[in-house]
Amino acid sequence: MKAEDKKAKIKCDAIGCSFQLDVEWKGIPLWHNKKCPVCGECVILNDEDMAIWRGINAQVLMDNAVDPDGLLPRVSITIDTAGLRKGMVK
Ligand SMILES: [Zn+2]
Repeated sequence: MKAEDKKAKIKCDAIGCSFQLDVEWKGIPLWHNKKCPVCGECVILNDEDMAIWRGINAQVLMDNAVDPDGLLPRVSITIDTAGLRKGMVK
């Protein structure tokens, strides 16, 4: 399975909100600047989250260029973008 075909989990960062959803990796940009469907308090993916996603997606594209058939061992990672946001977008 190619990395871009894998699932990702998105979640709301509002305190007390339980919204989370499994989405297609390629579908993540569809949540950019979309309000949480449960609490409506914050956006699911802001500009800084999208900057992080673009950086990770560039790595995914490079991995696929090096190993187009997905034959090399792959790793699964979990990234909480909330901890990476400050200072990402200039
Ligand atoms: Zn929410």
